[in-house]
Amino acid sequence: MSQNNELLACYKVLSVLETASDNTETMLDNIPGVVVVLNKNLQVLRGNEEFATLCGRSMDTLLGFDFISLFSEENSAALQHHITRLRTNMRPNARMDFELEIIPFTATRQACQFYWQASLVKLPKSAEGDLISITGKDLSALYQSEMKLKSLFANLPLGMLIINAEGKISEVLAQYTEVLFDRSDLVGHTLANLLKDARNLGETQIAEGLINFNECFGKSKMHYENIQKTLPCMLAINYPYDSNTKWININYQPIFKASSVEGFILLIENATDSVLAQKEMERISVLERQIQAVYESAIRDPLTGLFTRLFMKDGLTSLIGNFSRGSIAELAVLLLDVDHFKNINDTYGHKIGDTILSAVGKIILQQIRDTDVAIRYGGEEFLIILPSNTSHKTSCRVVGDRIRAALADYLLTLESGETVGVKISGGGAWCRKDENLNLAIERADGYLYEAKRSGRDRIITESGK
Ligand code: GH3
Ligand code: MG
Ligand code: MG
Repeated sequence: MSQNNELLACYKVLSVLETASDNTETMLDNIPGVVVVLNKNLQVLRGNEEFATLCGRSMDTLLGFDFISLFSEENSAALQHHITRLRTNMRPNARMDFELEIIPFTATRQACQFYWQASLVKLPKSAEGDLISITGKDLSALYQSEMKLKSLFANLPLGMLIINAEGKISEVLAQYTEVLFDRSDLVGHTLANLLKDARNLGETQIAEGLINFNECFGKSKMHYENIQKTLPCMLAINYPYDSNTKWININYQPIFKASSVEGFILLIENATDSVLAQKEMERISVLERQIQAVYESAIRDPLTGLFTRLFMKDGLTSLIGNFSRGSIAELAVLLLDVDHFKNINDTYGHKIGDTILSAVGKIILQQIRDTDVAIRYGGEEFLIILPSNTSHKTSCRVVGDRIRAALADYLLTLESGETVGVKISGGGAWCRKDENLNLAIERADGYLYEAKRSGRDRIITESGK
């Protein structure tokens, strides 16, 4: 059959098809992308509008035209190659998929990345030859957005990897991954390979997590969810050329295929700064606790359980501030001194003296309110600061007498069976709005002296209150 006869035969086939549906042209035009039907000599039998636009000709002038010669030399060779491969494939309705960049005959002549599908259509009568249908889709826009996405990934300070079904890195999506692992040969390696020298934050086994990771592939979603928590996450990596440790945080995004794990996308962030900041915060908080403990022990007298004089320096500042601002109506001071305490030491020894002082401290604490502050002011001298919101309701005498009464009930029984008790004297005063607390303490000391001189075991206060 001559070439013209073959062409005629093919037209005949198409006209048969057209009789079945006389809308073939419209049908072809409605198919998105480029569509062209060729005879076995690769001459154009039918094509849609997009095909005509791609070739920069009208469809009429393209009919019977040699398809291959419509393209540039480079494209022609590639198209010829794919179509030949299609024809040598003897399977019925064989198909060939390939990507090819085409420069269309449009005004801009801008290269477009096309995705082509060439199919062999077997006709019932072999004499009429086979038809080849070719469709092409311009994926340039898709490629561009993919490129944009890729450049976005590449510029993100975030590592991104794809791990394939064999557990190996198949793609590095973000360049920063190489910075994080300090190597550029990531593809082909396993995660275990990358993390062989890593340390875990919680010192738990990384090896176990990696075994679990390897076992995920091909397993169900439920299997993955069960082992998810055991995967190594926050890790320290040391590099031979970099003495600093880098901390990375790995986030696992499983890729499922037919409900089983087929791969992973790993998102890896540089967590060095946050881990170091966390460690520094922990160090500071330990230090703060230590300082607090030292301070607590410095402001607390271990023998009596009361505050020491050191506490007066900063512990009373806010109390005094509140008083001078008027949020506390009254600030009374009561100075107490154990009577003839020297005799106790001299008679029973220092140790017994200590036991008694400790008991006096406890009794004082029991007899005052939470808002009152009791200080071991000297060896056997105690200062109690009594704030009150109601003017002149706080009587130093009442508090002092309460302590005296409680102390009168206290008797220490010695090993010999003898009992020892102590009495106490006190002086009370009130702080004036414009004066330093020390002046009030001095006045209280004066009243204490008076109490001692007038026979001890009593409380004497300013204005008799
Ligand atoms: P008064 O106050 O009634 O005039 O007589 P006093 O005997 O209590 O007089 P003074 O204030 O001179 O004596 C206080 C004694 O308290 C002297 C000191 O050895 C003793 N003392 C001070 N601190 C401690 C302590 O922590 N433990 C013991 N066991 N004794 C202490
Ligand atoms: Mg004394
Ligand atoms: Mg004394």
